[in-house]
Amino acid sequence: MSNDYTPKKYKKENYDSKRADECVKYCKTCKVCWEIIKISKGKSYTAYYGNYPTYGKIREMCERCKKDLGAHEY
Ligand SMILES: [Zn+2]
Repeated sequence: MSNDYTPKKYKKENYDSKRADECVKYCKTCKVCWEIIKISKGKSYTAYYGNYPTYGKIREMCERCKKDLGAHEY
């Protein structure tokens, strides 16, 4: 009676993407979602997502726009 055994489907992928999702921020200035990806200790880069759902995302200016803002000395 145990032939109806089905392996448990681990939603690891879902879990991971949800976790990563919390780090994704939305830049109102360039209308793009972005996040800082940490490669290793002290090393990181900013990833930009053009087509990303912005609902519920933290509104924060991205690194690129921050730099642009700082370079407003014409
Ligand atoms: Zn931006």
